[in-house]
Amino acid sequence: MKKPEDLKKRIKEILKILTKEIPDSTIALKFSSPLELLIATILSAQCTDVKVNQVTVSLFKKYRSAKDYAEARLEKLEEDVRPTGFYRNKAKSIQKCCQELLKRFEGKIPNTLEELITLPGVGRKTANVILGNAFHLPGIVVDTHVQRVSQRIGLTQNNDPTKIEFDLMEIVPKEEWTHLSNLLIWHGRRTCQAKKPLCETCPIQKWCDYGSKTKQ
Ligand code: SF4
Repeated sequence: MKKPEDLKKRIKEILKILTKEIPDSTIALKFSSPLELLIATILSAQCTDVKVNQVTVSLFKKYRSAKDYAEARLEKLEEDVRPTGFYRNKAKSIQKCCQELLKRFEGKIPNTLEELITLPGVGRKTANVILGNAFHLPGIVVDTHVQRVSQRIGLTQNNDPTKIEFDLMEIVPKEEWTHLSNLLIWHGRRTCQAKKPLCETCPIQKWCDYGSKTKQ
């Protein structure tokens, strides 16, 4: 078990290196309001961000408020989100979520984790995506990339996303929660890929447990 002080030092170095390496580490989903980001995040399950961005160009022109989604004909909404896959479930989730937004939040997206996770289909990951990227409030997003990269680096010994989130909260300065999440997501996509991590050329190899072991 590593000491928290050592992990904090490691995080500091990793943040420095990856910020330089990936200066454009903002979220890849396109949105112009918290509602749009919520919809895009729901659509991004099992779908690429590129595809979601293609679909939301026309979707966001057609549905401008929570009321529009809540009152839409479900079959029509399904058709409109179909290219993102799992469209029946996604359309249902979006509609239920927007109906709740109307019922309890006057159609507006709440800006606390506690409230966000009460919405149907919104878990901690989606809530933290919205907090960090739409409201600029601290949130650690543990998606598949953050999970894998954090484990390989040695920042956590856990597998459960919520436990990983709490491990990272302990060692990452609060003002860096969103930034670090976005950096690790990009690093996971570009370099620390699931099947074949590019450790040889990885700029943080020195600070990574897995990478140090593979070093010749
Ligand atoms: S050294 Fe390898 S395992 Fe570690 S972060 Fe880099 S690519 Fe991933």
